[in-house]
Amino acid sequence: MDIEKKIALVAHDHKKFDLLEWIKYNQDKLAAHILFATGTTGNMIEENTSLKVNKLKSGPLGGDQQIGSKIAQGEIDFLVFFWDPLEPLPHDSDVRALLRIAVVWNIPVACNRASADFMFSSPLMYEQYQRTVPDYDNYREREIKRIKL
Ligand code: PGA
Repeated sequence: MDIEKKIALVAHDHKKFDLLEWIKYNQDKLAAHILFATGTTGNMIEENTSLKVNKLKSGPLGGDQQIGSKIAQGEIDFLVFFWDPLEPLPHDSDVRALLRIAVVWNIPVACNRASADFMFSSPLMYEQYQRTVPDYDNYREREIKRIKL
């Protein structure tokens, strides 16, 4: 992970205000990184700050999956995801998949303001960081029973 990090920002509707407040407070720090966001979150950030955001599709329309795919491709190395623990959502399975893939690839994830504050005040934010990627070779080379068609 370079000093300039590729950070994905996502907030569910009832958490958007929280995320925006946090972003405004950390605007100068965030300006040093490359930012991605799901559609509505990204629009909201651009309307309320001077930050430039690479906007993906809205979360329920595939944006969460796009972020997950970028994590798997090594194109995102940090996730700030303020998800709503009190609201069932139509794309709950996408939310779960995004959180899962972040763990699979050992990506730092902040799911609330306190975690985001702690992570952004870490000296590692201002350094290169060698993220260990789990060795999945055993998984890739696992024995699969051959099926004859
Ligand atoms: P949104 O998506 O930024 O387009 O609202 C967020 C989400 O629900 O994942």
